[in-house]
Amino acid sequence: MKDASILLLPGDGIGPEVVTELRKVMDWFSSNRGFNFTIHEDDLGGAAYDRYGTPLAEETLARAKQVDAIVMGSVGGPKWDNVERHLRPEAGLLTLRKELDLFANLRPATCRPALASASSLREELVSGLDILILRELTAGVYFGEPRGIETLADGRRRALDTQVYFESEIERLLHAGFELAGKRNGKVHSVEKANVMETGVFWREIATRVGKAYPEIQLEHMYADNCAMQLVRAPKQFDVIATDNLFGDILSDCAAMLTGSLGMLPSASLGALIDGKRAALYEPVHGSAPDIAGEGKANPLATVLSFAMCLRYSLDSNEEADLLEKAVDQVLDNNIRTIDIAASGVDPVSTSEMGQALLTALDSLNHSQ
Ligand code: NAD
Repeated sequence: MKDASILLLPGDGIGPEVVTELRKVMDWFSSNRGFNFTIHEDDLGGAAYDRYGTPLAEETLARAKQVDAIVMGSVGGPKWDNVERHLRPEAGLLTLRKELDLFANLRPATCRPALASASSLREELVSGLDILILRELTAGVYFGEPRGIETLADGRRRALDTQVYFESEIERLLHAGFELAGKRNGKVHSVEKANVMETGVFWREIATRVGKAYPEIQLEHMYADNCAMQLVRAPKQFDVIATDNLFGDILSDCAAMLTGSLGMLPSASLGALIDGKRAALYEPVHGSAPDIAGEGKANPLATVLSFAMCLRYSLDSNEEADLLEKAVDQVLDNNIRTIDIAASGVDPVSTSEMGQALLTALDSLNHSQ
């Protein structure tokens, strides 16, 4: 799909800095690969609170529902620490995810060859690593009711959260997992705690049933604690890990550390396919990094790689997604690094220098094709 409407939400902190570099990359694809992007840019999070008095304005949400894809920078920062909870920057992002029903969160953990030595694991364990963690994002224990902290009649205090899943919520997540595995290496690990949790038993039963519709995909069930252990013992055994909201939160952070820096990690959150269209939000995993905001030090590659996911999943442009990922590898191979991934003895480049290096790499790869 070459004609696409994109909503860009730079957000707060380093968000606007990394999105500026992304815009240059998008312009490159327009000039060199025939894309015709209609770009809308708006505020989200703290920037939106300052401008509209709310972290997600109604017009922004209406636009988000119309476009083919949304690409975000990051939200949050100490400036808004004392704002009421429902008006905090993060509330804008949560509302956006909820309103668009973005239930499938895709977090790839790919070890880019030039960064294998930056992993916390031995190089041979992570070199060539390519895992996708698929986390259910809109249900489970973060949303279940009842929840709260209460005092019983006898004076004892207690806190409770509720893990609850409807069959349909598990089914649609697993369908997404099997479909993604079909485009990758054909393997799904369905992860839960069926040994101690009713939702785990339910999850496993549904995974087995859904899996029958995908005979070409290999399905394995795994307990979440074992999965955490296997991720740091032998991560290359995985292709797609499909799991619930809580386990996905933890396992995806664990997998992230296998690959080096936060500044390299992209993500996508997808909704259901409705009338041929799927709501989609692409964003780097990192936050707004207030400690380096405005200093030109931020690594824009996580945002650029999030756009590569947008090319792949929203715009059906696998060739261009591959090209962009190759350009990232080329830049890293040439030892061009921002401060978060700089090897010792290498002078780090600025955010905009990294953006420029990426455009040079895209040019050279484009000419050699
Ligand atoms: P963070 O990800 O912003 O920063 C953690 C550390 O990583 C910092 O030292 C930072 O400088 C570094 N870092 C992060 N991204 C980087 C990049 N692209 N290049 C170079 N270095 C990078 O996490 P935090 O400090 O816990 O949170 C800061 C703010 O971001 C908070 O307000 C938090 O709520 C918010 N946050 C937002 C999102 C989001 O927008 N999706 C996610 C996480 C945190």
